[in-house]
This record gives sequence, C-alpha cells and structure tokens, in this order.
Amino acid sequence: MGFSKASVRDAEVGGRRVLVRVDFNVPLDDGRVADETRIRAALPTLELLRERGAALVLVSHLGRPKGKPEPALSMRPVGERLSELLGAEVQQAPAVIGGDVETMAEGMGPGDVLLLENVRFEPGETENDPKLAGALAELADLYVNDAFGAAHRAHASTEGVARHLQGYAGLLLEREVTELTRVVESLQRPLVVVLGGAKVTDKIGMIDRFLEIADRILIGGAVCFSFFRAQGVATGDSLVEEAGVRLAAEALERAASSACELRLPVDLVLGERFDAGAEHRESDGVEVPDGWIGLDIGPRTAAAYAEAIGAAGTVLWNGPMGVFELELFAAGTRAVAEAVAEAPGTTVVGGGDSVAALQQFGLGEKVDWLSTGGGASLELLEGKKLPGVEALLDA
Ligand code: ADP
Ligand code: MG
Repeated sequence: MGFSKASVRDAEVGGRRVLVRVDFNVPLDDGRVADETRIRAALPTLELLRERGAALVLVSHLGRPKGKPEPALSMRPVGERLSELLGAEVQQAPAVIGGDVETMAEGMGPGDVLLLENVRFEPGETENDPKLAGALAELADLYVNDAFGAAHRAHASTEGVARHLQGYAGLLLEREVTELTRVVESLQRPLVVVLGGAKVTDKIGMIDRFLEIADRILIGGAVCFSFFRAQGVATGDSLVEEAGVRLAAEALERAASSACELRLPVDLVLGERFDAGAEHRESDGVEVPDGWIGLDIGPRTAAAYAEAIGAAGTVLWNGPMGVFELELFAAGTRAVAEAVAEAPGTTVVGGGDSVAALQQFGLGEKVDWLSTGGGASLELLEGKKLPGVEALLDA
C-alpha cells in the first residue's frame, strides 16, 4: 500500500497563499528552542513552497496552553529560530486569527512567511470548532498538512480546516506515513514496545492496543507510577495521574490474560527534588517513600530492558525512561537509547523528547526511523487511521 493522499508536490501553489500546519511543538529552555529537530524536519516542505512562489501562513501548537494566551508558550522563539534556518524573514502574528492577522496575511507576496501564534491559545482548536477552522481557512487559498506529530488529533488546524480548503500532504507527513506503514506491513517479531515519558494518560491509553499486537511492553518514565499506584505500591511524590491509575488498573487486568508480557521496573533511582543538585539514591525495589520522587529506572531494570530490546525483531520506543535532562537521572534513558542503537531489529523512535534524548547521546543516526511524532507514530503502528491524514485530498 503506497501513500494515497495528494502530495504538496502536485499542488498548484504559485502566487497563492498556503496555510501550512507544521509541528513546531519543540522543547523550550528559558525561552529558547532547546531542540530544533522538528523545525528542521519542516524545512523541505517550506522551501519547496517558497521556491514555487507561494506565500506561507504557518500554524502550529506549542505545549499545552489551556485555550488562552500564555506568554511562556508564544511561538516567538520558534519564529526567530525558523528565520535563521530558512534564511528569510518570518513575520510573527500577534494572535491566531482576527483582523490584524488577516491584514498581515493579505499583505503577503510570493515567498513571504507569516507565523501565527500558538493555535492552542484558541479554545476552538482542541474542540475542532468549525468557527476556528473557518477563520483559519479565510487566511489562505489552500492547505498543506505537514504536522505529522499532530495528525492523530482531529483538531481545527489538523482536520477541521481541511473541510474548507483543499488539503495536501506535506513532504514530512508523507515520508512519515510511508516509512511507518512499511514497518507495520513487514513486521518482524518479537515486537517490543518501550513506553515512558510524562504524558502518562496518553501513553497508558495506547497500551490496550499494544497488548493485542506486541509481544512485550516495557514501561518506564513517569508512566510506571500510575501502575504502581494501581498495584497499591507506595509512590511517594512521584508523578501520578489519577486518570492514568484507572487505565493502568485495567491494563494490568488485561495483561494477565494476554499473550503479551507487560513489564514494569524492578528498581528505581529516587531524587528529593527535580533539579541537578538533588539528593538522590538508587532503590533496590520500587517502593518510593514520602518525600522522594521516582526519577529514573534503576540499573537492573535498564539491563533487563536492554536485553529485551536486543532480542527484538522490531522495537518501538516512545518516552524517556527518566528525567534525562538531568545527568543524575539520565542513565536509564541512556541505557535504553544505546540498546536501541545497537539492536539488530528494526528500530523506530518517536516523540519529541525521546528523539531529543537520542540526539543528546549522539545516537540519532543509529536508528532506522526517527519519527517526529510520538502519539501519531504509535497510533499508525497500532493500525489506526490518522484524522489529519484522512482529511486530505485523495491522490
Ligand atoms: P515524548 O516527547 O518522547 O513523547 P513525553 O513528552 O511523554 O515524551 O515525556 C518526556 C518527559 O518526561 C521528559 O521531559 C522527562 O524529563 C519526563 N520524565 C521521564 N521520567 C519521568 C519521571 N519519572 N518523573 C517525571 N518526569 C519524567
Ligand atoms: Mg514530549
């Protein structure tokens, strides 16, 4: 099965205004872009459109603002970095939609680039409000979706807007879907799925499907604490999401009668605080006392996970094993990253932070496919249709 959607390569864009949904949801550190992988990944599509004489209106989300403006999540630092990478001026819109933004869009000429504000400043984005989708559509003549990382969400800028404008797939989106589809269609077993990170409820929500298709699921990161809570194990001050605990309890029940093995850490690294100089210690076992936070998997867990990864026919990794940004709590993520880099099986790593971790360890080149989308890549590999892809024109 090839890619079945219309490609930006085949769109008539010269002299037209194109609304491009990009995935500029990058990690920020102190108001600066900490990892620009996702910005770079969008450049081929943006360059192609500019070369062909289109004016570009770019829209993305950044972080999780609650439907209202949050200065710390402004797209401004992203626009500055984009401008350097593109070697062209990037105009920054003061908002997502509205009169001022329309005036800016109308004043654009071929090759100009306008970056809208964080689309999640608008409550209509995640609600897929037709009014927001319509207002976004007003800004352009056609639509290109290159935001693979957001394609699994039916939001106004990823799905709704394609009901108003003809939608084409960007180069990155097309490449991601093609590569990941190839992995699914020639799946080598055992399939080992490694899940970690901090978006606990999202990730646990995917475990059900993976219990059906994977041979082994290895849990790390903050995700494990919702499981431990569900098992009645003390989690101290570790990150636990209530909704996650319920899902974890269900997943444990299902895992008991599934052929797929669900593994949890057997040891941890604990810290007293979330910082580089925190008191820290290894705990042989997974009980976390009050006043302590589980911030990494322990060495026995890391070794066991590395072994399972080495024996896999296919590895999907999404979500760091610990707070890898701090050296004290990076060992588990490093061990998993090294195991994935050396694994003889097919390896796919998805998720902004997981990819950033791999790059930080200098191992980015050593995996088969580095996906810019964590949730989207997992959903595609689960066999789901992505709303942001489905909404585009057929080829
Ligand atoms: P990805 O971007 O790869 O999908 P997430 O966004 O879900 O991953 O999570 C990444 C974040 O998870 C990292 O910033 C990391 O510090 C954090 N994290 C990992 N383990 C823990 C933990 N035990 N407690 C709190 N945060 C954690
Ligand atoms: Mg992330």
